[in-house]
Amino acid sequence: MKKTLPLLLQILVLGCSSVNAEIQKPNVILFLVDDMGLMDTSVPMLADKNGKPERHPLNDWYRTPNMERLARQGIRFSQFYAQSVCSPTRASIMTGQNSARHRVTQFIAPEKRNNGPKGWRWEGLTQKDVTLPLLLRKQGYHTIFAGKAHFAPTGFEGEDPTKLGFDINIAGCSFGQPGSYYGEDGYGNLNPKRKKRAVPGLEKYHKTDVFLSEAITLEAKVAIDQSLENQKPFFLYMSHYAVHSPFNSDPRFASNYKDSKKPKNAQAYATLIEGIDKSLGDLMDHVASKGVAENTLILFVGDNGSDAPLGPVHGYSSSVPLRGKKGTCYEGGMRVPFIAGWAKPGKKNTFPIARDSLHNDQIGTVMDLYSTILDTAGVKNPSSHVVDGVSLLKQLSGRGNPDRPDHFMCHFPHSHRSSNFTAFRQGDWKLIYRYKGRKKYELYDLGKDPFETKNLAESERRKLKEMTKAMIVRLEKEGALYPSEGDKELKPLLP
Ligand code: CA
Repeated sequence: MKKTLPLLLQILVLGCSSVNAEIQKPNVILFLVDDMGLMDTSVPMLADKNGKPERHPLNDWYRTPNMERLARQGIRFSQFYAQSVCSPTRASIMTGQNSARHRVTQFIAPEKRNNGPKGWRWEGLTQKDVTLPLLLRKQGYHTIFAGKAHFAPTGFEGEDPTKLGFDINIAGCSFGQPGSYYGEDGYGNLNPKRKKRAVPGLEKYHKTDVFLSEAITLEAKVAIDQSLENQKPFFLYMSHYAVHSPFNSDPRFASNYKDSKKPKNAQAYATLIEGIDKSLGDLMDHVASKGVAENTLILFVGDNGSDAPLGPVHGYSSSVPLRGKKGTCYEGGMRVPFIAGWAKPGKKNTFPIARDSLHNDQIGTVMDLYSTILDTAGVKNPSSHVVDGVSLLKQLSGRGNPDRPDHFMCHFPHSHRSSNFTAFRQGDWKLIYRYKGRKKYELYDLGKDPFETKNLAESERRKLKEMTKAMIVRLEKEGALYPSEGDKELKPLLP
């Protein structure tokens, strides 16, 4: 019948068919791993002085064959930044804003108001927020949340991901740490000692030997099938509880580490890493088996620096050769793996992503994921909503983006492993400013000293002043809240 219609009318008929239009939109899997730092993988992510990925001993300790597979058919970033703890990163992914602006600057404590300056958003995200899944859903996406949410405390609306724009919530709630990874424990529900952090909603796996990472993956696959049956493009926010503590050993992989002579905790951590890697491979295989791999973009990312139980907090063990770990102001606290690729590279890909193990040595940040995913889906950010991130699509092509900002700021006006600091990276330089105590400034030339061994704050006074000025401008622009001492607000000081 269509053959008899004039051409213009045929175009109109096709254009009005929402199903056809939606099928063309790419599916997106945002694969977010909790507490996974840059070095927690067998994929060499860190670049050497010539900008080439370089192998380090930790790359030989961890086993992530599916990350290797994604890296081979996609592009990896060597300088990708997250915030130093969970919730700030998670709010940045949802809003595209830096933490100083959205003000979820500390991890959300499920049962109480966590410490921090007056006005910090300890109550987390709400229905009033413009969020990534909300915008995607309005444009026809099926939006699936799976795993760890940690968007708001218990009793606040944001604790439920379906209040923030997701159609489906698999196992997400207010807390960021599971009671148990074991099905035998009902993920905390069946173990009185673990019940405080009992993971909701996976009852059918209770009393089985299905590990938490596996259960979430199985349920995510079911949700993907629902999207495909309904002929809708999907956005899967695949957010593993792993590899956050408790470091429960995953029995499927324990034998790979038992002769290593490393501490039991470190071995268990490695099994958690291998478990999320299997999940990645299973999802890649699943979309391939459904015939949509060429139309499915995968963005793999960690939410803060490593928490590997391998040594001191501020030293060089968990993320070696990077200094520090999760929660600190050093690079090991905020550098995370980022790999992007089509589940299968091919002719149906909406846009080209560099392949053959290419990598990008420009800065990228968790704030950029919001704009990148909207760009991928052809969805516009509302003009009234300020974003700090930029789309990564040019960088994903492998050509780089000469126009992207070369700075990153982690603003943390709270007490934690590193307390009351702003870490500000601009170009090769990094400033760490501490609001309390006498030692206010640390300055590193990451171009020459990527592992932060020589504090140049005394010898490079001019650069120190320039960096502090630039940091203050950025803080003010984003509306940062500062720590206080008594009634006195501690604004940053020039040297
Ligand atoms: Ca985390």
